[in-house]
Amino acid sequence: MITSPRKHIFASVAAIIAAVIVASVIASAFGAASERVLTVFFISLIAVVGMGVYSGNSGILSFGHLSFMAIGAYAASLLTLPAQLKIATLPKLPEWLAATEMGLLPAALIAVLLTSVVALFIGLAIGKLEGSAAVIATLGLLIIVHGVAIGWRDVTRGSQTFFGIPTVTTLWVAAIGVIVALIVARLYRDSVSGLRLRAGRENAIAASAVGVRIRRERLISFVISAALMALSGALIAHFLGAISPKKFYFTDTFLLLAMLIVGGMTTVTGAVTGAVAITIVTEVLRRFEGGFSVAGLDIPAVFGTTQIGIGLIILFAMFRKPDGLAGLKEWEERLFPVRPEGDTGADIAPSVNSLPLTAKGMTMQFGGLTAVNDVDITLNPGEITGLIGPNGSGKTTLMNMLSGVLVPTEGEFFLGSEKLSGLVSHEIADRGIARTFQNIRLFTNLSVFQNVLVAALSTRSGKNAETRAATALMRMGVAQHADAEAGTLSYGDQRRVEIARALACEPSLLFLDEPAAGMNREETDNLMETLRGLTRDLGLGILLVDHDLKLINQLCDRLVVLNEGHLIAEGSPKDIQNNPAVIEAYLGPNRQD
Ligand code: ADP
Ligand code: MG
Repeated sequence: MITSPRKHIFASVAAIIAAVIVASVIASAFGAASERVLTVFFISLIAVVGMGVYSGNSGILSFGHLSFMAIGAYAASLLTLPAQLKIATLPKLPEWLAATEMGLLPAALIAVLLTSVVALFIGLAIGKLEGSAAVIATLGLLIIVHGVAIGWRDVTRGSQTFFGIPTVTTLWVAAIGVIVALIVARLYRDSVSGLRLRAGRENAIAASAVGVRIRRERLISFVISAALMALSGALIAHFLGAISPKKFYFTDTFLLLAMLIVGGMTTVTGAVTGAVAITIVTEVLRRFEGGFSVAGLDIPAVFGTTQIGIGLIILFAMFRKPDGLAGLKEWEERLFPVRPEGDTGADIAPSVNSLPLTAKGMTMQFGGLTAVNDVDITLNPGEITGLIGPNGSGKTTLMNMLSGVLVPTEGEFFLGSEKLSGLVSHEIADRGIARTFQNIRLFTNLSVFQNVLVAALSTRSGKNAETRAATALMRMGVAQHADAEAGTLSYGDQRRVEIARALACEPSLLFLDEPAAGMNREETDNLMETLRGLTRDLGLGILLVDHDLKLINQLCDRLVVLNEGHLIAEGSPKDIQNNPAVIEAYLGPNRQD
């Protein structure tokens, strides 16, 4: 399923095909030299968009993708190399492989498949890592595959040139390859998996909390991107006719990453822009590299002019355009902004679940600090429970444990009779527990609608996702902002979008961590009305943390009070107001009057 409007995808695909054909026709008209430049450009572009499928959507920079290009190149070449030549130059090849002599198309397909399988295993391993550890692992991958290519002499000829590959990659072959790659990358970006992955890139904790299985989505994109790299590798090998391991190492990694970063990782538009910009600059600088003369002045040859030039462009991009020349949106997204559908007349389905959540002995230790200490709590459907206590008393930590963000040191909790403790965030979300965060965690660079849609797609089997997303936005009164980037909204509206995103999961229990923080009185009163509607109309149970005692007292059926990690009181708002332990916790033991 594609999550973008049809018009966008159609415009994008049509433009890709038209641009590639027009460029190819023009280059052919200018003769063989320009044909070669464009062919190499197309093949590089396949690799750049390939890297973008993973790095752009996941936000994890990969230094290792050239190794998939290498695997694709060597695998395809071994299949197309004339049998006679194989016997002469690679005498130790297994017989079946030595005898194989295929055309480029089947060889490339096999190489792409083989690389995808390799990437699946590597992706499973790298997927366990986060942040810079993942980036460093990709670097390790590059070095390992390079090492294997050099060491596995019987198959790769080691560091010697692997030559005699049929040079069958013409301009039109590369053109078809790049059309395929661009379309795959564009469709992936707006596929369900792509949207989930981008949500995870924007905020991993929030994405898990709305049901996204980030590792799975990362793996999918890793395999697709490796497949595109393999295609690029197969094509470049059959363009050059000879390859060696150093072709797929740091120099080209740097070049392709530069294209991706300068253009903008997060879009296909960016990958193309960056590839064009860097190609033009390198083509120009290469002409000057051997020295030149201006107005009688001889400028000597400077070795590495091209590399220095690329370095300077990266620096310029980092300072002036950190999101890349193309920014964060595809060109067609800028040209045709989405106008979301109006009133669908539907409403969020009432909560189907009428089971209480019971937690026993919840304890969380951070080093020597016991943030939550042996707390028992029950949350009932259709009831609003207020969780109050001074700053640092453990309210957020308790919520984090009950939503799977933190693993409790001790204690367990159940929904009805099903044990939820031990499950991870997205599994808990799938069982009908949704939440917001004290410090707002929206997917800042996604539209408001996409923020909510990704939640709807990732819970309750993704059924009726668009309708659920739209109705959740309407419920929270933020439907008019559907097309805006979430990060551009006012504070109060961002909090409402966050609640809408949680509602799109169709939860039976909703955790709200200081939803009224930063809101003025009028906004708070509005919010109170909305929340009341949620329990009344949908039968939702709510766990509400807030410091606004008016909000708490008017809204909550029951209050639970924490102090220094201990549950010190529980009861109706009236009981709590007069509870001496609570008064002391809030006002301190040294109260004189
Ligand atoms: P509240 O939400 O009631 O203000 P928290 O649950 O955020 O309180 O914090 C409870 C205590 O646990 C505080 O002392 C806080 O500093 C500590 N704490 C919270 N999260 C962490 C963490 N990830 N690592 C270490 N200490 C933490
Ligand atoms: Mg808190």
